[in-house]
Amino acid sequence: MLGLMQTQNLMISGLLTHAARHHGTASVISRTHEGTTHRHTWADVERRSRRLARVLTKLGVRAGDRVGTLAWNGFRHLEVYYAAPGMGAVCHTINPRLHPDDIGYIAGNARDKVLFVDLSFAPLIGAITAAIKDCVRDVVMLCDAASMPEVALAPGMRLHCYDTLLDASDEDYVWPDFDENTASALCYTSGTTGRPKGVLYSHRSTILHAYAVALPDVLDLRATSRILPVVPMFHVNAWGIPYAASLTGATLVLPGRHLDGASLADIFNTEQVSMSCGVPTIWLGLLQHLRSSGQRLDTVKRIMTGGSAAPPLLIDAFRDEYGVAVEHGWGMTELSPVGTYNAPKSGQAGLTGQDATRHMLKQGRILPGIDMKIVDGDGKDLPWDGKAFGDLKVRGPWIASAYYGDEPGSALDAEGWFATGDVATIDPEGFMEITDRSKDVIKSGGEWISSIALENIAVSHPDVAEAAVIAARHPKWDERPLLLVVPRPGHSVEPQSVLSIFEGKVAKWWLPDAVIVVPELPHTATGKIQKMALRDKYRDQYMRE
Ligand code: ADP
Repeated sequence: MLGLMQTQNLMISGLLTHAARHHGTASVISRTHEGTTHRHTWADVERRSRRLARVLTKLGVRAGDRVGTLAWNGFRHLEVYYAAPGMGAVCHTINPRLHPDDIGYIAGNARDKVLFVDLSFAPLIGAITAAIKDCVRDVVMLCDAASMPEVALAPGMRLHCYDTLLDASDEDYVWPDFDENTASALCYTSGTTGRPKGVLYSHRSTILHAYAVALPDVLDLRATSRILPVVPMFHVNAWGIPYAASLTGATLVLPGRHLDGASLADIFNTEQVSMSCGVPTIWLGLLQHLRSSGQRLDTVKRIMTGGSAAPPLLIDAFRDEYGVAVEHGWGMTELSPVGTYNAPKSGQAGLTGQDATRHMLKQGRILPGIDMKIVDGDGKDLPWDGKAFGDLKVRGPWIASAYYGDEPGSALDAEGWFATGDVATIDPEGFMEITDRSKDVIKSGGEWISSIALENIAVSHPDVAEAAVIAARHPKWDERPLLLVVPRPGHSVEPQSVLSIFEGKVAKWWLPDAVIVVPELPHTATGKIQKMALRDKYRDQYMRE
């Protein structure tokens, strides 16, 4: 027997109309390209998004068409986030930090029809025109008429000014209702291995994810929250915050393109931000600024860090020096992206000092609605004892079932689980800890060594700014850990003193066989250390000795 409750499609436009109707005066604040502050409300976002839906229709965008963006976190980008899926099209955010060849490939592969572009990325358009000329018909610059740049386009492509298009449009638009499983947004993975692959979200997956990340044991979003996503809107939906903010009526603060420590401290204090989210590199930059300037954070209470493992220093320094809790989340593009969050259960609530830090290094508990497990090489479940580590698999309604263009279900195993490519432990309380990417784990004499665990110890050395551990080939043990360290500015590093810091912290056979001091480490467009490039360079280090 079926239940007798109303069935209503979960629509992204529904989030926005809710925010406009019930939190109409709550603010959406943006730092603009020119460094000014733009203020409007959720009611304005909804009204202007309807205007934009009319513009898209006039540009020939139809249901299912891809609408590309190359843009920072700002109010115009937010309007595209809502207008495109709201009318049944797909908002395709492209990471402008990728190589122009990849950007051209991604826009061409998605067959974007229109591109919305921030002023900073105008020169990029010239570089990718050849790759997009067969699909992109219209390029809309996200600016006012006075700021319109010169952009070299291929014949047949049209250049527009966002504000001019919006001014000439009207709000006579009713958000349509359609199947909640309709595609809403598209985002390509960073492509550290091979070509980037598209993940195609739906209205349903987006809204379920928004509910989950807004929960008290995750972002704890409320109408009184003032949240600033440092994580870019071109990077997995800014971790779902643009949707979770309208769901809860929170004030949304969008920082634009200046993400250095000084700019962030300034906007945090000026706009009284209570919560923020971003990758560890951002928080290390902020910490450096606070320490050198003596500036304090007046209102920020919590920071979510994710995208790569947070070094212990980050958690300690923000807690002890600034009274800010740094909380670990984990996820990936294929997970919309948040999968776990480290909020205490009653057993962990009383932890203090180093015990608290050790616990906070874990990536956290699974969000309700999805599930996870760890398995060995034969696919057999491993115990949740906090020690056994194996391949992390996940399943649930906001996890990809296939990549863009592939058959539904083709990314899953026979039981419907998605292999994350991460290696992890899970403790008896259900806290997961990433020990590695499966391709980064070091296989020494048949046993596994976690590169992340070694990196965390290396960066606790006072002279080390950044560290990477890679698997180098070894004549006897197959692979052995090799540690690369970058000294802190103005410091020099003695390899032996770095090695001595590992004593008593890990088993002897986990110790790196060598430490190499390097001026810098290569990073991907999303801020992760490019281990593949390091492996290419140093893979045979121990074979040469
Ligand atoms: P995102 O864009 O959110 O970083 P990607 O899909 O680019 O997602 O990368 C996902 C991968 O990043 C994960 O599979 C994992 O290896 C790594 N990652 C994400 N969050 C964390 C974290 N908190 N700690 C360690 N690794 C993480």
